[in-house]
Amino acid sequence: MLERDTLKILQEALRKLDAGFVSLPEFAAAATDSQKISEVLTSTAERLHDNYPYFHPLYAGQMLKPPHPVARLAYALAQWINPNNHALDGGRASSAMEQEAVAEIAAMFGWHTHLGHLCGGGTMANLEALWVAGQRAPGKTILASEQAHYTHQRISRVLQLPCETVRCDARGRMDVEALRARLARGDVGTVVATMGTTATGSVDPLAEILLLRQKFRFRIHADAAYGGYFHLAGNLAEETRRNFDQIQHVDSIVIDPHKHGLQPYGCGCVLFRDPEVGRLYKHDSPYTYFSSAELHLGEISLECSRPGAAAVALWATQRLLPLQKHGEFAKSLERCREAALRFHQRLAQDGRFLTPFLPELDILVFAPRAASVDEASALTRKIFQAAARRNLHLAIAEIPVAFFDPQWTSAKQDRFGLTCLRTVLMKPEHLDWLDRIWAILDQAAQECSGR
Ligand SMILES: *Cc1c(COP(=O)(O)O)cnc(C)c1O
Repeated sequence: MLERDTLKILQEALRKLDAGFVSLPEFAAAATDSQKISEVLTSTAERLHDNYPYFHPLYAGQMLKPPHPVARLAYALAQWINPNNHALDGGRASSAMEQEAVAEIAAMFGWHTHLGHLCGGGTMANLEALWVAGQRAPGKTILASEQAHYTHQRISRVLQLPCETVRCDARGRMDVEALRARLARGDVGTVVATMGTTATGSVDPLAEILLLRQKFRFRIHADAAYGGYFHLAGNLAEETRRNFDQIQHVDSIVIDPHKHGLQPYGCGCVLFRDPEVGRLYKHDSPYTYFSSAELHLGEISLECSRPGAAAVALWATQRLLPLQKHGEFAKSLERCREAALRFHQRLAQDGRFLTPFLPELDILVFAPRAASVDEASALTRKIFQAAARRNLHLAIAEIPVAFFDPQWTSAKQDRFGLTCLRTVLMKPEHLDWLDRIWAILDQAAQECSGR
């Protein structure tokens, strides 16, 4: 199941890496006990059995996607150097590779000048974006939708900035009229537009939010941690496409290469349209930067030590799979959305399930039809377990009942009352596995409801 052939390529690359240091006097690192390492590593592998099979197409639950082999190998290769992208002294090549890879991501969004860098993940990246937003509009309110990632609330508390939520429409997107009404009351510094919510992959109406910016001045931060790469996909719905096409007009963007960008965890990215915000990071450390007058990434990032290996892996991946429309990488994202659309169609044609809106990206939520919200929620949990016993791993999510069935809403149900099934079809292989995924879901549903 686990790909191992590419390890031979790593051996070759390591020889090449070693050849770059031949001018040094002969040196051997302190002896290691291979036998003991082997024993420990074998028991480590056993220990790792206690995981869901994230790499397999039958894992279709949370946002987990295996790194591309080239990313895994480049990351491993860089471990023999173990560069630190805090300062050029700690990682010259990997700092340059980070700047190149990040500039390619910025260019994907239509930015030819920018300020940006990699960081630990979407949370850190959003923290920096909202920190800059707070510096630019001190004390002003941050608005994000009800379906925005909970991290924005938490980050705002860390930054001691007021944060409020804006209602969503029945498709999980920020409600523009509710936003307009809140903006009219004043004191809003920043609006967070989520370009692909974590629960349902809904894309906030960025085009309309931009129109509101002309009237009420505020910053716009695009949280594209999950959805950002779909900018390259050629098969988005017209409305989703229109919103992605406006992304170049926002003030900051967050994207997670460790979600859809085929990277190991520990790779988020924050981008600012105006490079001037670099001034806000100013500090006067006496010791970190002494080797050159060039920019050290630590001068424009809140985190200090950071894995240069993450930049090396991202750089190598973008060499193999450039961020281009109609390219191989874009096509693999198109397959993911296609899989979600086809799965949605099957669910919609089957009387046993309720599905809300068409998926905008590759995330789908659905629930078994039942007489009440409580019954549907209970049945969801049973189906989830019955599918897992057959090796199909879905996820469970709490979704506003209004997304599903207006009748339930009128029955005074809790807005966040329905426990439903959720599937993230983020591997290109999912498209080929739809029949098998459906067959297991069908059996699981039959077992649970006798239908
Ligand atoms: C995943 C996600 C985050 C948080 O990012 P991490 O990489 O998990 O820290 C923030 N916003 C959105 C929309 C996300 O999908």
